[in-house]
Amino acid sequence: MWSYQHTGFTVHQLPALRDNYIYLIEADSGNVLVAVDPAEAVSVRKACRQLGKPLTHIFNTHHHWDHTDGNLSLKKDFGCLIVGAANDAERIPGIDIVVSEISPPALPGLDVSVLDVPGHTKGHITYMINDALFCGDTLFGAGCGRLFEGTAAQMWHSLNKLAGLDGQTKIYCAHEYTLANLAYASTIDINNPALAERIIADKSRRKQGQPTIPSSIDKEKATNPFLRPLDPAFCQHYAAAHNISSEPLAVFSDIRKRKDSW
Ligand code: ZN
Ligand code: FE
Repeated sequence: MWSYQHTGFTVHQLPALRDNYIYLIEADSGNVLVAVDPAEAVSVRKACRQLGKPLTHIFNTHHHWDHTDGNLSLKKDFGCLIVGAANDAERIPGIDIVVSEISPPALPGLDVSVLDVPGHTKGHITYMINDALFCGDTLFGAGCGRLFEGTAAQMWHSLNKLAGLDGQTKIYCAHEYTLANLAYASTIDINNPALAERIIADKSRRKQGQPTIPSSIDKEKATNPFLRPLDPAFCQHYAAAHNISSEPLAVFSDIRKRKDSW
């Protein structure tokens, strides 16, 4: 378990399953302890014991099993409240509170906002508390989620919302996919020194058994191939090399499509 101090709360990062991360948000005051996307219950229960606190809430970013499988078991143990997207209420096991951009969850002592980010699934949402973004399978280290239910246009719009957040915002995504994503990035963003630097830094982190997450919005804007279409010079270059339109959505769509068969 790794822990990160933010103003008013601590984020605990638990590795789960093969490459998932479950996050526990522990408020400095009051008794709030939130599990974000509990892929399973065992590691959450163990962490709660270590922290000496019961789980009060579960926040789900989307309905996939590797983000919700711990829901019912943890609810049975702790009687915690399960929070999920209004758009996806029927697919979130045990949901108690439906939320959206215009009706975020109320947590004592913490100011939570929600962004609707369809693309990976149609009901995918992110949770933001101060400078911490819990973005599930929408934005990854050097990657983005597959388009299981949404269109490339929806995902591009969703990623633009995230790219508009403050650059220092910490990215707490739900998978450790960074090295594989960076390997793909290096095939399409060849002359990017920031990318080359990141590959060295993140490889060394993984070698030492450390996570590459959290990342930050600024780091992703500089190196994530799915955000690079925000840079017109990158689009020009990519479009010329692949003989497509240099319009950002066209470039994003092509990069997403190539990744699926890479
Ligand atoms: Zn997913
Ligand atoms: Fe997932």
